[in-house]
Amino acid sequence: MMDDDLVPARMVNEYVYCPRLFYLEWVEARFADNDDTRIGRQVHRWVDTESGAAPLPGEGELRAARSVTLSSERLGVIAKLDIVEGDGDAVVPVDYKKGTPQPDGTPWPSDEVQVCLQALVLREHGYRCERAELYYAETRQRVAIELTPERISHTHDLVADARRVAAGARAPLPLVDSPKCVRCSLVGLCLPDETNALLARREQSPLRLVPRSPDQRPVYVTEPGAFVGVRGGRLEITKTSGRDKTKEKLDSFRLLDVAQLAVFGRVQVSTPGPAGVLRQVDPSAVAQHGRLAVRIRGRPTTEIRGVASPTDRRTRTGRRRPRRTHDPPARSSTAARCCAATPAVTWPARSPR
Ligand code: SF4
Repeated sequence: MMDDDLVPARMVNEYVYCPRLFYLEWVEARFADNDDTRIGRQVHRWVDTESGAAPLPGEGELRAARSVTLSSERLGVIAKLDIVEGDGDAVVPVDYKKGTPQPDGTPWPSDEVQVCLQALVLREHGYRCERAELYYAETRQRVAIELTPERISHTHDLVADARRVAAGARAPLPLVDSPKCVRCSLVGLCLPDETNALLARREQSPLRLVPRSPDQRPVYVTEPGAFVGVRGGRLEITKTSGRDKTKEKLDSFRLLDVAQLAVFGRVQVSTPGPAGVLRQVDPSAVAQHGRLAVRIRGRPTTEIRGVASPTDRRTRTGRRRPRRTHDPPARSSTAARCCAATPAVTWPARSPR
């Protein structure tokens, strides 16, 4: 059996979570990130560092080994083990998970199957292994799993089921109204509600789980010496150069299409510029040398409010006082003056260097 034919234990975990997710990831090789997958990688960064070859049974004592990959043709499985710990003359696979166990303290069924497979692969390689463990990073809990005959038989059945699904010509249908979809990284590719609505498998209209792509786009102006102004409902970017002060038009956008204006470095914005932008664009940001210098927000009020910087918020004794919601407006600020035509002005604290 080629390595490609072996089902990764991690994919059997996905199969138990959702057969469609397993098919999309393993058979169609489709993958997408979300916050959960990114945090998962972060939690795994230590255990993903290989610690060298682990001694085989009879070769010496195995205390602990990280990131061990083992496969078994008989099981038809390949598994990457986060940690293998020695336990007398036996070993214990420990799999890291970023989240928490179930509310009753037991592991999630998908995690249980994955670590059970890891234990079975270790047995196939001659190690004595009677239990496996899951480490849940969020609650820092270790949960042990005994390798009972029922659990082993159930795990074998799941591997066989996953293989059957993988051999199918089409991905299984999406889950219906499942809370799993909300946390699933492939929800934007799978489109469970939309698919189920089209197939008349659910009556409610689709729940929007991913934000709609906005029609508007941000405009970044990085050309030194450029000038940003507003004319006839358009944001115009020009540059004057040469002794004869020739004005060159660099670009022009309909204000309707602009979500945000960000200028970098030596770029001028006309006073009507931000005001004009703010009528339709919120927020508008101005950055200098790559760092946010001022951020301008339009508000449905005539109030002009400046939020003082940390220096302004120090008392006479030099001690910082907490920001209050009724802090008075900043007395003097170029930004406040230049944006006086706009309803409100805020600028962030300078980041310490
Ligand atoms: S969005 Fe739902 S149905 Fe689709 S793959 Fe993910 S868990 Fe499965």
